[in-house]
Amino acid sequence: MAENQLGQQYMILPEGASRLIGKEAQRTNIAVGYAVASIVRTTLGPKGMDKMLVSELGDLVITNDGATILEEMNVEHPIAKILVDVAKTQDKEVGDGTTSAVIMAGDLLRNAGQLLDQGVPPAAIIKGYEMAQERSKSFLKEAANSISINDEKKLLEIASVSIGSKNVGSDQTKKYLTTLALKAIQQVAENVNGKVVIDKDFIKLEKKEGGAVENTEFINGVLIDKEISHPGMPKQVKNAQIALLDVALEIEKTEVDAKIEITSPDQMQAFLNQEEKMLKDMVQKIVASKANVVFIQKGIDDVAQHYLAKAGIMAVRRVKKSDIEKLAKATSARLVTSLDDLSQKDLGFAGQVEERKVGGEQMVFVEKCKDPKSVTIFVRAGTKQAADEVERALTDVIGSLSSTVEDGKYVTGGGSTEVEMAMKLRDYATDVGGREQLAISAFADALEVIPKTLAESAGMDPIDTLVQLRSKHKTRDGKTYGVDVFKNVIGDMDRLGIIEPLKVKSQAISSATEAAASILRIDDMISSKGKGGAGGPPGGMPPGGGMED
Ligand code: ADP
Ligand code: MG
Repeated sequence: MAENQLGQQYMILPEGASRLIGKEAQRTNIAVGYAVASIVRTTLGPKGMDKMLVSELGDLVITNDGATILEEMNVEHPIAKILVDVAKTQDKEVGDGTTSAVIMAGDLLRNAGQLLDQGVPPAAIIKGYEMAQERSKSFLKEAANSISINDEKKLLEIASVSIGSKNVGSDQTKKYLTTLALKAIQQVAENVNGKVVIDKDFIKLEKKEGGAVENTEFINGVLIDKEISHPGMPKQVKNAQIALLDVALEIEKTEVDAKIEITSPDQMQAFLNQEEKMLKDMVQKIVASKANVVFIQKGIDDVAQHYLAKAGIMAVRRVKKSDIEKLAKATSARLVTSLDDLSQKDLGFAGQVEERKVGGEQMVFVEKCKDPKSVTIFVRAGTKQAADEVERALTDVIGSLSSTVEDGKYVTGGGSTEVEMAMKLRDYATDVGGREQLAISAFADALEVIPKTLAESAGMDPIDTLVQLRSKHKTRDGKTYGVDVFKNVIGDMDRLGIIEPLKVKSQAISSATEAAASILRIDDMISSKGKGGAGGPPGGMPPGGGMED
């Protein structure tokens, strides 16, 4: 409600709308951002806890994965959504490090709140944060070590750090899963102009509940969750010659309601014969190409199925486009869109195609391909929840490994790199001086939330640990010291093999900084929605609350 010069009141915003301006908006937004980050905080690291989420429909998710937790929470508040986007971006860009990115963003916001209280204007905070971001990233590059795709020992260390925080089984099971992931990465890696490129889309994760996690297997090819379309077709074909078709093996029904006048039984028979002949001709073209297995994106008429079976050809219909693409990459077959174009040249190869029954359902295994650039990891686990978490863990490991291999760089984990960056940033802050100095120091403090949280998760005193780490980092061999969460002491992460991809760390810093800056730029929150808008943080927390250390 506002007032004009005559003292009459008039409405600017629709009824039920709310508005927060200036400091009030900033304070609320900071509190919301920090509250969201606090939710995932306890899941960080190998000693982190799981969260159980129950959807409106009663579906259950048990996970340790930051991105999944935030996504499943269905947060309503627009600021909370920005934090959810941090996790999503991190997940999409590098596939790991989501929790770190979000809790860093939370601390950047909280520390900014303290600076606002001291009268530092938002613009100076944002500028300082951006300067600190740039600096941290160049420090990271300096600290990074080189690694190649053949450096299996180190790659497995990176994979085991990534999977270490997921509760997917014993250490031995985790180790087994990391070897599968590495095998997949090495198999699909391609050399493009002297650079290693991994297209993660071509590492298919297929899952079926039943069996144990140890039954998870690597398939040198593609697993298709479909059955063979006709019982008379072979269940197994060795040395498969594979055709991929984006053609319907059906007689096209006309769009308009065409009527055909049939006046005698003879005419009817002739009509049916004609249809049957057309379908038979279609199958004949497949037979002529010498294909013995066909995957079809569209449908197959019963009559065509019959003729295919008679010719000893295995056929699978209504295969997803994404699966067809994977099959093309794995078998070197070319997708054909018209039967007239189909020839032997278009066929792909697999050592074996077989339908097998898994967990009560038929699936088609296209395996033993020759140097396939598309592979599958077939995830098994006792329950659906467990299989889902194994899938998420493998996604993180694959993300982590492909980031490392493409970038060729890694840094040490356990909070060691964050402590080192923070130390260097504080020196830099003194050089910069002015109001930005305060923001750069606040940024350094926010980086240290990682070692602090790891210490906390292990039951160590976070402040004590940080003090020890800071003084260790001032010594000559102290640069790689971090939190040894298993021994509850500080330790040399390089020697312990706690290493992580450089790309995961630098992406976490970028997305956290961007999110914090974009939230700090907001000084007016207008929400035309009655509830869940700019009114306050989720969970009814009062603005400014819940920000204790
Ligand atoms: P994120 O979603 O950020 O990847 P994680 O739960 O995977 O969150 O935790 C990652 C953090 O845990 C990183 O800082 C990493 O260095 C640390 N970490 C992982 N394994 C260990 C370990 N064995 N000892 C110490 N720190 C570890
Ligand atoms: Mg992780």
